[in-house]
Amino acid sequence: MDPTPPPVTIRRLPDEQALAIAWPDGLARSLNLVQLRAQCMCARCVDEITGERIVEIDGIDPGIAITDMQLVGNYALRIHWSDGHHQGLYTWRHLRDLCEAD
Ligand SMILES: [Zn+2]
Repeated sequence: MDPTPPPVTIRRLPDEQALAIAWPDGLARSLNLVQLRAQCMCARCVDEITGERIVEIDGIDPGIAITDMQLVGNYALRIHWSDGHHQGLYTWRHLRDLCEAD
């Protein structure tokens, strides 16, 4: 099991084009949506065999927005993007890593 605890808050910040995530240990970051979209790990965005990224950050709409979000179990977030993409899951571990790298 993924031991990463879920965030305490996840908030959309449309004006800043960011997703604000706060964690139980106090870490809080606003993740840029273009970069977050570029980090999608689904089979349409990353080649499952080679691990090569298919969707490059240059190919992402700079005005991209989040249209919906759903919790998946208690381990991940499914983000629905304004480009119609909603296949990708962002696990807490992945989001945590992105916050720590920010
Ligand atoms: Zn994807």
